[in-house]
Amino acid sequence: MNVELITIGTELLLGFTVDTNAAELGQQLAAAGLRIPRRTSIPDTPDAIRDGVSEAIHRTGAVITTGGLGPTRDDMTKGVIAELFGRPIVFQEDLWQRLLERYRRVGRTPVESNRTQAEIPDGATVLPNQWGSAPGIWLEGQLQDGTSGLVIMLPGVPVEMKNLLQVEVLPRLASRGSGRIIRSRTLRTTGVSESVVAERLGEVDREISPLTLAYLPNVSGVDLRLTAWDAAPGEVDQLLEQGAAQVRGRSADSIYGEGEDDLAALVLACARERGIRLSVAESCTGGLVGARLTEIPGSSDVFEGGVVCYSYESKTTLLDVPADMIVEHGAVSEPVARAMATGALTRLGGDLSVAVTGIAGPGGATPDKPVGTVWFATALGGDVQASRNLFMGSRYEVRARAAQRALFLLWKRLLDLPRT
Ligand code: ATP
Repeated sequence: MNVELITIGTELLLGFTVDTNAAELGQQLAAAGLRIPRRTSIPDTPDAIRDGVSEAIHRTGAVITTGGLGPTRDDMTKGVIAELFGRPIVFQEDLWQRLLERYRRVGRTPVESNRTQAEIPDGATVLPNQWGSAPGIWLEGQLQDGTSGLVIMLPGVPVEMKNLLQVEVLPRLASRGSGRIIRSRTLRTTGVSESVVAERLGEVDREISPLTLAYLPNVSGVDLRLTAWDAAPGEVDQLLEQGAAQVRGRSADSIYGEGEDDLAALVLACARERGIRLSVAESCTGGLVGARLTEIPGSSDVFEGGVVCYSYESKTTLLDVPADMIVEHGAVSEPVARAMATGALTRLGGDLSVAVTGIAGPGGATPDKPVGTVWFATALGGDVQASRNLFMGSRYEVRARAAQRALFLLWKRLLDLPRT
């Protein structure tokens, strides 16, 4: 089944609200086997809503809208769409009583304009909204010009939209679909650029057909998304499993996880399994590595702590980096990264540490140390390993990539150790 999406709201076009509803709907509908031939954002004016919905119905026959269902004057979605279908708006007393009950529960007194939320196009189905006050509306029938169509109106507030979609809309749509579905599986890589990943994967695109492979670079690395289109529910998981195995076979050492896996969580889990405690020493990342680790609940059993040492003096006083070493080699150098990693273990404790020192930019570059130069060191007791990277991008990107790299280096060293 095909369905168009229309997200309604002037704020969306001005760029003040990011259209997360469209992204959520895109993912959920595809997973349920619905195709979206077109998606549109329109301002909340009667003409735009009338034209947008009418065109979508003439083109595709079915449309989901979000936004403009609230009680204020600029919420005009249902009135305009009711008019397109030639349906009067009717006040539903039982819906109003349910809304009053909800207001009582949350301790609020409704105002006169809230009554409009109990007004529904004649003959439409109400999709009860337990998460907010504006119900969704399912309206099916003929437009004034005789064209048949379906409009599903959902509220704009993302959490309400999402819940209504899952609980009320998808089950109803599923019963009309072909039963074929679209499903994806994402493998997460880090430590190698998009072109290197592509080089390693070579002709895999052809081997995994009919699955498709998308390269999705971001500051954490390159995500590889395998997608099965138009698949039977009974065979889709096996198809994706085979495709994932083929991709893993060619690029296993840079793949650290799947889906929403966070490298910081994997580092902590690996450290826990090996009885290893971690500490960090950060200069250019200013605490990002420590923040990534402590964002994960339960990190205290593995994470000893971190030092943010930005100035020369702090590197010396907090981590025992010799002052003359910094003068001789510069703060962004292999000896300083090594000394920082060792200092973290001595001062903070732990078994394995990582140190990061680099030039995040936009200033601070020298001829032999361009912006994006970052030295890393990991210390496992007295065994210290150092490496250098040159990261592209803005200050934000250099710092985020460096933090991810630091976690990757910890992870690699942990994998070399036996589990306890
Ligand atoms: P309400 O009854 O709360 O007014 P509504 O259906 O009228 O709901 P809108 O007024 O259009 O929805 O939007 C409510 C809020 O939801 C907006 O302030 C905005 O933050 C958010 N929102 C609306 N549309 C989107 C969208 N497409 N993506 C993400 N957020 C959205």
